[in-house]
Amino acid sequence: RSISSQSSFKAADLQIEFCTPDQLKKKPSVSDLVFGKHFTDHMLEIHWDATSGWGQPRITPFHDLRMHPAAKVLHYSVELFEGMKAFRGIDDEIRLFRPDKNMERMNRTAARSSLPTFEGTELIEVLKKLVSIDQEWVPHAESSSLYLRPTLIGTEPTLGVQQPKEALLFIIMSPVGPYFSSGFKPVSLLADPQFVRAWPGGCGMMKMGSNYGPTLAIQKVAENKGLQQVLWLFGPDHRITEVGAMNLMVFLDKGNGEKELVTPPLDGLILPGVTRDSLLGLAREWNEFTVSERDITMAEIISAEQQGKLLEIFGAGTAAVVTPVGEIHYGDKIIKIPTMDHEKPLNQKFFKTITDIQYGRVQHSWSIPI
Ligand code: PMP
Repeated sequence: RSISSQSSFKAADLQIEFCTPDQLKKKPSVSDLVFGKHFTDHMLEIHWDATSGWGQPRITPFHDLRMHPAAKVLHYSVELFEGMKAFRGIDDEIRLFRPDKNMERMNRTAARSSLPTFEGTELIEVLKKLVSIDQEWVPHAESSSLYLRPTLIGTEPTLGVQQPKEALLFIIMSPVGPYFSSGFKPVSLLADPQFVRAWPGGCGMMKMGSNYGPTLAIQKVAENKGLQQVLWLFGPDHRITEVGAMNLMVFLDKGNGEKELVTPPLDGLILPGVTRDSLLGLAREWNEFTVSERDITMAEIISAEQQGKLLEIFGAGTAAVVTPVGEIHYGDKIIKIPTMDHEKPLNQKFFKTITDIQYGRVQHSWSIPI
């Protein structure tokens, strides 16, 4: 039937081509699960072009993409992606975590990238089908998961710097092992104001490939200093923004028994993380301390540390839920943060609450069975 002028593909149009038995791959053991190295047996593809709109969603055996060398994605980074996970619960049920948030962010990024938008609910439906076909790839091990990578690229085979008239949405999936195989080890961050990741009026809040490629050389600078990740600063007052692939949270003692959880506001410079939003939601529900989305500068962090009021700093992201920060290297200063030195660190309470929801130990509307 005609699909022209459709503003979205429809899950009801899904076609499935299953692998033949000889195409099925051997699954790696959980101890071999290097992030993003192994892929499942099937993938999803949906083509779009400006004349006929979205085509039918197709699940097919996992395969290489063929592309014209002039495809716009290869020249102008007309590309975006998402990162989300499927979890095998303690009841053996497989669940997605707040997939609607990833779909909203993907559509926002598509609009900014001159790529076509779609109905998020339709993509969630086909994604559920894809995960259920490859469900044996969702690891049976506690704290492992299946990482899902929805991607959208401009494929029109012309070199003009113009909006693409052809695009491809695809989803590939990769089993990932326990993030903290050796326990919660705090990471050390490089905070060097000469490097800037995003700026006002730019695309920092978008999950597009062009935000990530240029950060890799700076990541290397951090690694050469023996540090794990880059903390991106912005502005003359050295505001903290976010880390490589995590939002940042700072837990402060305000005196008189008052505490404050601070995270930078969604001012266009930082990615609106699903984990960030979830932790803020939980913290506001608990109502045990002040929750602030406000600017926080390196000067404030240093002064809090000197007064013994800096309790915890941790990253928040899909990869690990929370990542404790132990040190920030800033100019000639090394700021030590006692993130894990408390009896009951807030970051661990967040970790337990979120993973209880993800692995079905606690029923919650954020967890969506496939
Ligand atoms: N910031 C950046 C730059 C990221 O790439 C990510 C990972 N998507 C995050 C923050 C965390 O977002 P989320 O909680 O949705 O994974």
